[in-house]
Amino acid sequence: VWENCLKIIKDIVEWQHFKTWFEPINPLELNGNVLLIEVPSQFFFEYLEEHYVTLLAKTLKRELGKTARLEYRILVDSGSKGKNGSMDVPAGNIKFYNNNEMSFPLVINDEVKNPFVIPGIKKMQIDPQLNPAYVFDSFIEGDCNRVARRAGKTVAEKPGASSFNPLVIYGGVGLGKTHLGQSIGNEVKRLHPHKIVLYVSSEKFINQFQDHSRNNAINDFIHFYQLIDVLIIDDVQFFAKAEKSQDALFAIFNHLHQSGKQLVLTSDKPPKDLDGMQERLLSRFRWGLSADLQVPDYETRIEILERKMKNDGLELPKDVVKYVAYNISNNVRELEGAMISLLAQSSLNKREIDLDLAKKVLRNFIRTSSKEITIDAIQKMVCEFFAVPYDKLLQKTRKREIVQARQITMYLAKAFTKNSLKTIGEHFGGRDHTTVIHSCQTVKDLMDTDSLFRENVVELTQKVQLAAM
Ligand code: ADP
Ligand code: MG
Repeated sequence: VWENCLKIIKDIVEWQHFKTWFEPINPLELNGNVLLIEVPSQFFFEYLEEHYVTLLAKTLKRELGKTARLEYRILVDSGSKGKNGSMDVPAGNIKFYNNNEMSFPLVINDEVKNPFVIPGIKKMQIDPQLNPAYVFDSFIEGDCNRVARRAGKTVAEKPGASSFNPLVIYGGVGLGKTHLGQSIGNEVKRLHPHKIVLYVSSEKFINQFQDHSRNNAINDFIHFYQLIDVLIIDDVQFFAKAEKSQDALFAIFNHLHQSGKQLVLTSDKPPKDLDGMQERLLSRFRWGLSADLQVPDYETRIEILERKMKNDGLELPKDVVKYVAYNISNNVRELEGAMISLLAQSSLNKREIDLDLAKKVLRNFIRTSSKEITIDAIQKMVCEFFAVPYDKLLQKTRKREIVQARQITMYLAKAFTKNSLKTIGEHFGGRDHTTVIHSCQTVKDLMDTDSLFRENVVELTQKVQLAAM
């Protein structure tokens, strides 16, 4: 019977698919009108469910009559490293429920639309890779992002069903692409808990693809992504340098789009400027809606700061908030950074944050308006601080105090000047840039483990900061 089924299927299904999905099936026994087959894995079963249910049902009925039934057994063989139980899927963000039931009765008849919805079978679980802090509620709306934010909400309410497919969100660094993309995922999960959502950065996607490609498992990779209902891919500009990954993205995109699944893409440029991207992909990116994120205006920046403070249980005087919002104007991440460094300064100095302190700290934060401090000046400060002679700092002395002073100086020079590692090295009697890298790392490590060392570095940092004001 199975042989006959296969003959029919072979004519219908593409050869490659037939080899992948039908040849591995093992017919076990025929009991009246019930055929029991064995499939190699849970994943395999899910895939059949997704793609070949109608075909299987039809062929089997042709062979066994209207009351035909198909029963499954999933090969469970946890000892071997095959595709059983622990199917090798991309990046470990897929989890299978342990399945104790060994066979799943499948009733095929015309009344049941999807005969694979079987009591007792549990659906595949995928960790959507979402950060719960990135929700619409914490994403402040302004003229700068209104279209993108609203389109995002629409997409989350009706994934795959609006004309915003794909939804492409583009904008510069730190303007909220990741936050918005993640918000869509979180909102879909909230409104449609059964939808399979996956957020993935393009870098991760590309890395996974390359791994699978090395292992000749590109099909597994593509099939995995084709199971997703709402796929969010962050920073697609990275695909420009990964030609082969674009092919996989193309296959996945087509499959998902055709099956009414939702795609959300973010990019640091508008799709038309994505040089290095295949035209067939770019033309698909244009099928849906492209919405940009602009720099938020002053009012929106104030709102963002206020929301952030509220969430973190912090408070800054109103005039300070205004001052920060006024002066840090081109990037939300920097806006948050300025606020955090303000809070850090106030706790270091044990001093309330007032406009005065804000002015000092921000002058330091807004690089353009701060005094540029020199490597020489930092060297002098450190020598004075540790009472180390200047020439010793430059020589090859291996005395511990001097080595540490030298390392701290390099670290501060890296943090507070715009000099290259090479230039910094040259200021220390011609050392090379790897020495500077090593020094910076050593300082960071020691700050974690040695509290006296840490205090010294913190105190010196403050001195340098003050000198730069
Ligand atoms: P991108 O991915 O575009 O580089 P992110 O999404 O990482 O930017 O955003 C940078 C930071 O700014 C994040 O902490 C994010 O929460 C915050 N942010 C950006 N836009 C907004 C907004 N409209 N409202 C609140 N926070 C925002
Ligand atoms: Mg981002």
